[in-house]
Amino acid sequence: MGLDAYEYSLTKGVRLKEGTAREIGEQAAKWGITMSVHAPYYINLASKEEEGRRKSIQYIYSTMEAAEWFGANRVIFHPGSAGTDREAAMETAKITLSQALEKCSSFIAKGIHLCPETMGKQSQLGSLKEVLELCKLDSALMPTIDFGHLHALNQGNIQSCQDYADILDTIENALGKERGRHFHVHFSRIEYTKAGEKKHHTYSETEYGPDFDPLALLLAERELDIIIICESSGMMAEDAAELKRIYQEKLHLFN
Ligand SMILES: [Zn+2]
Repeated sequence: MGLDAYEYSLTKGVRLKEGTAREIGEQAAKWGITMSVHAPYYINLASKEEEGRRKSIQYIYSTMEAAEWFGANRVIFHPGSAGTDREAAMETAKITLSQALEKCSSFIAKGIHLCPETMGKQSQLGSLKEVLELCKLDSALMPTIDFGHLHALNQGNIQSCQDYADILDTIENALGKERGRHFHVHFSRIEYTKAGEKKHHTYSETEYGPDFDPLALLLAERELDIIIICESSGMMAEDAAELKRIYQEKLHLFN
């Protein structure tokens, strides 16, 4: 299909044999596919229970280990629950994340990045501001910007090229040039309610935002080197090919 990135989902748990992962990784390398890995959904860096935080660190560790087997250099994870006190939850999350970084130092030394994701629901930690705040803890942390989630969380606020430009500028201002140019992206059209994310849609369901066109234009114009994983409902690969086609069309405008 001409695609060149794949995110292996371990969202339901790290149940994977080393040999299998290495075989997949070898094939990916052979075909020029850059791999990333999505960590389990149960991670909650802000868990009020010590046991919950300890397990979260363990899930991150085992996903990092799987990433090494795959030859992947990005592990994507959801930061956790916002609870009743967002600020307290953020403080707990930062401490747990620092401990996770320490435990994963051997993988980090090999160049594997931990990538907290922006989330679509009010009840979750993971506004743009929160994800950037987490990433400020260490240069091994790279943001995963899920534009659909941001759009849902902020009630459909991504409409124009300027809206995307503001997000890109915010990332660069917070984390500097390097991480402002290389970060991870999830993209899909999304339906939302007052509480945020309701459902991912396909790219052809244009009644839902956000639109990829203005983002593609900015990526081409600013020569950003990011990996985009398409999370369309049931049409990930087909829609990823469509997003890639749109991006290449924009690239031609600048070359
Ligand atoms: Zn995710």
